[in-house]
Amino acid sequence: PPLLSVEGLSKSYGGVHAVRGVSFSLATGEILALIGPNGAGKSTCFNMLNGQTAPDAGKVHVLGRDTTGLKPREVWRLGVGRTFQITATFPTMTVRENVQVALSSHGHKLFNLTASMPRYAREEADHLLDLVGMGGFSMRPCGELAYGDLKRLELAIALANQPRLLLMDEPTAGMAPRERIELMRLTAQIANEKSIGVLFTEHDMDVVFEHADRILVLNRGNLIAEGSPQEVRSNA
Ligand code: ADP
Ligand code: ADP
Repeated sequence: PPLLSVEGLSKSYGGVHAVRGVSFSLATGEILALIGPNGAGKSTCFNMLNGQTAPDAGKVHVLGRDTTGLKPREVWRLGVGRTFQITATFPTMTVRENVQVALSSHGHKLFNLTASMPRYAREEADHLLDLVGMGGFSMRPCGELAYGDLKRLELAIALANQPRLLLMDEPTAGMAPRERIELMRLTAQIANEKSIGVLFTEHDMDVVFEHADRILVLNRGNLIAEGSPQEVRSNA
């Protein structure tokens, strides 16, 4: 089965068809961008993949497993990682501790031996921080981090459940152009190394054309175009 398969996904709010019959799939290692104007249905679609919003109709499968209507926590446990638009770290805790928190909420699944958890979490936290180039920041309180570093930390946290699929909601929002490119380069590198599929929503077309393997264009809840950056650009 594909890593992610979405069939006929729909959601209405009152009379508004936020998302209407959207179908697509995502392969392992692929980086898929979900774009469209404000109100197109990107967030609604995104939230139906991570369990935050239950669809009215349609199906979501992750690695062949039906995740439609599961709670965020259940989706997360099945190996779907996500980053948040608004950062959700604990400012007074250190960078490493923030990663450890994420790891321990997943630890029972990785290790039956609770006793080995603290050491495992520490080593694994440092490994994830190295992956995102933040090895030198582990003892710093999160509240002192620059915004771009915080976003890299969030990427490390999103990898704590060893996801096969990573969902990123406007990952580069609020970042300087150079930091945007760097974050997405890092994401692509990690996705490639760990065979993770990535779906992200994005406003910045430079980021999309540079980093997406494939693009989905939503408009008024409908999927109106789909293709490689070259295909989507030439039809725009
Ligand atoms: P995008 O993320 O592309 O800006 P959204 O998914 O946020 O689009 O919104 C799609 C449509 O659904 C918009 O018309 C929006 O007003 C509506 N909508 C989204 N969420 C809600 C909600 N919780 N309640 C009512 N309407 C909503
Ligand atoms: P609850 O509040 O239901 O007890 P948690 O506190 O474990 O659940 O997590 C709340 C939600 O935040 C989860 O449903 C999950 O989607 C998300 N979440 C928790 N930890 C992470 C993480 N490390 N990375 C991404 N999302 C996470």
